Amino acid sequence: MSDGSLSRRDFLALTASTTLLAACGRSGAECHPPDPRSLAKHIRDKRAELRYEPIAVDSKRTCGACAYYKPGTNCGGCAVMPGPVDAKGSCKLFQSG
Ligand code: SF4
Repeated sequence: MSDGSLSRRDFLALTASTTLLAACGRSGAECHPPDPRSLAKHIRDKRAELRYEPIAVDSKRTCGACAYYKPGTNCGGCAVMPGPVDAKGSCKLFQSG
């Protein structure tokens, strides 16, 4: 019969799972790019010229699989594309890595 209180075992399990969730949230696995309108004009122009798309139409040609991609803590970078780059994105300069 339960009196509604948390056992020591349940408390430790809850604490461990909460800590794990918090750690996942800081991992930087998700890309939270800035509003494109906040980027400098020359960056927006270059991204338009190279047809950068934050979500690749072709899942085999993503930034994360590109030779120019540089992983980061929040989004990543690119050797040829200015500004933050999402691993799920793509552009016309994709180069198989
Ligand atoms: S070159 Fe294009 S596809 Fe490759 S990482 Fe840079 S933005 Fe992504």
